[in-house]
Parts: sequence; structure tokens; C-alpha cells
Amino acid sequence: MAETHYDLIIIGGGPAGLTAGMYASRARLNTVLVEKVATGGQILITDWIENYPGFPEGISGPDLSDKMLEQARQFDLQFEYGEVEKVELEGAVKSITIGDKVLTAKAVIITTGASPRSLHVGEEKFHGKGVSYCATCDGPFYKDKTVVAVGGGDTAVQESLYLTKFAKKVHLVHRRDQLRAAKILQERALANDKIDMVWDSVVTGMDGLFGVENVTVKNVKTNEETKIAAAGCFIWIGILPNTDFLGNALEMDEWNFIKADANMATSIPGVFAAGDVRSTPLRQIATAVGDSAIAAISAEHYIEGH
Ligand SMILES: Cc1cc2nc3c(=O)[nH]c(=O)nc-3n(C[C@H](O)[C@H](O)[C@H](O)COP(=O)(O)OP(=O)(O)OC[C@H]3O[C@@H](n4cnc5c(N)ncnc54)[C@H](O)[C@@H]3O)c2cc1C
Repeated sequence: MAETHYDLIIIGGGPAGLTAGMYASRARLNTVLVEKVATGGQILITDWIENYPGFPEGISGPDLSDKMLEQARQFDLQFEYGEVEKVELEGAVKSITIGDKVLTAKAVIITTGASPRSLHVGEEKFHGKGVSYCATCDGPFYKDKTVVAVGGGDTAVQESLYLTKFAKKVHLVHRRDQLRAAKILQERALANDKIDMVWDSVVTGMDGLFGVENVTVKNVKTNEETKIAAAGCFIWIGILPNTDFLGNALEMDEWNFIKADANMATSIPGVFAAGDVRSTPLRQIATAVGDSAIAAISAEHYIEGH
């Protein structure tokens, strides 16, 4: 029977949480990782990863997630599934609430990551009916169809390239006249006949009877609006931190990412944050796992000292 009092609670089971869990349980801390959906986090919706060291041929997101989970499990990391809705982080004993269950611990690491940002142009009613944030999950539904993709960063370009395996055309809408993505991804996208760049444009709406049929885009320089006939709209315009459940418990930056120092220590002693949920200049798997290794060691030192 698992205890409900632990040395350490880790909230969130993406790459950051699984890494912190592996380090902490290997250090023989009695550790539980709490995950609300499924371990793996955002990499579960990532088709192909080619910038995580150790996999020169690249690796699929779900495969990398399986490997991280398997490695974390080797050292007796414990798991609880459910959404953390409430936290009490001040004082020597921290507590978190999942439904009617309360877990307590000497220290907490928050690795709740981030979720995709919405366009706020009425796309909510087309969720599951043409609007998607995940090419890996939904790309195959668009075989020989035309789709719109939105964004200009690494994720938007990499995932648009993946969509070209299925779709006959991908109109990639970007609000500037050049992409932000890594140069190698830009080169691939611009050389791909199936990708049509819609520069200087934003999506202003979408319509359709039973699902997406048209996506309206506005050129921000001319204000001209055009309807693109498309069966799907994939949105990759950035992320929002999963920090609502924390209320005002911790110091955050202006976008509500958690402020943590070089040891991943937050504004409350014994509470650490790592990965995409942290205020940081780069949000990638490599940075998430690096930061969470530091967070686990910092938590270990904190627990030893208390
Ligand atoms: C489509 C896509 C493609 C990407 N491609 C790459 C790439 O090629 N290379 C790369 O390095 N990075 C890539 N990234 C970014 C990378 O996936 C993230 O940087 C990384 O997953 C961050 O890990 P994390 O553990 O901090 O957060 P996440 O992966 O977001 O995991 C957070 C976890 O916490 C859980 N959680 C949230 N709130 C709660 C709660 N209240 N209670 C319990 N659990 C909770 C979530 O369910 C989730 O499982 C990509 C991201 C996306 C979306």
C-alpha cells in the first residue's frame, strides 16, 4: 500500500517530471509523481524529435516518452493519477489535493508544463471537428485534403512538414514575413511543394456546417481578408503555463510562468519548479530534463537539511 506521506511530490509527468522522478527515486527519496492525463506530456503529441541528444536518427515523441517512463520506473518511483487542484506549500509539510485525496511531503517539484495557446477566433466550437493542436494525433485524418496551419516557430514548421505526409496542401499562415523556426526547418518548409506560405497574415475566423470548411485569414499589411477552403486548421502559436491550480501561492513572471533560480528554487522554501512551467528563455526537452535534474538534487539537499 502506497504511503500518502512522502519525502517528495512531483506534480506533472512530462519529460521534466519523469526526469526529476528518476533522479529522486534513484537517490532513494520516497517520491510520488502525480499526473493528470498520461505520462509523457507534450511529447506525446510530437511526431518526430531530432534535437534530443542520444538519438542520431531521431525518435518519435511517444517512443521517447515510453523510454523515459521505463527508466523512471526502474528506481521505484511511485505514481498517482489525477489532477492536482489545490496546494498548501508554506511550512515544513506541503500538501496537495487530488479529488478527495490529500498527499503530503517535505518538498514539492512542480513540472506541470504548458498547454497550446488558442487563437480566440471562435475555434472552440470546431475542436474535434477540424481544429487541432496535434499533427501526430490528427494528421492522418487529412489524407489528400487541404489544411491550414498557423504559426512560425519550430513546432509550427516541424509539424506542418509532418502534415505534408497526408495533406495535399498545407497553407502555413504566419503573421510576419519570415519564419522564426530553426534555419534547417525553414529550408525544408520553403523547399516543400506542398507547403504554401501565407505571409504577414493572421487567422480571423473559420466556418463550416459540420466541421471546418473555410479558414479566413487577414493580411496585416493590407487588411485584405481571404477565405481559404480547408478541412482542418492546426494551431501552433505558442503555449500557456499550467499554473492556474497554484493561485497566488508562488512568485510568477508576467505571463504566469513560475520564477525559479539557478537551483530551481521558487519563492517558497522546499518548492522547486522545472521545465516548460518555469520562466526560462528556452522550452525544449533538453532544457526540461536538465533543469529537472537540478530540481531533484536541490530537493534532496533541502530534505536532508530539514
Ligand atoms: C507539437 C510539439 C512539438 C514539439 N517538438 C519538440 C522537439 O522537436 N524538440 C524539443 O526539444 N521539444 C519539442 N517540443 C517541446 C517539448 O515537448 C516541451 O519542451 C517539453 O515537453 C516540456 O516538458 P515538461 O515536462 O516541462 O512539460 P509538459 O511536457 O507540458 O508536461 C507537463 C505534464 O504535467 C501534467 N499536468 C499539468 N497540470 C497538472 C495538474 N494540475 N496535475 C497533474 N498533472 C498536471 C500534464 O498533463 C503533462 O503531462 C514540442 C512541443 C509540442 C507541443
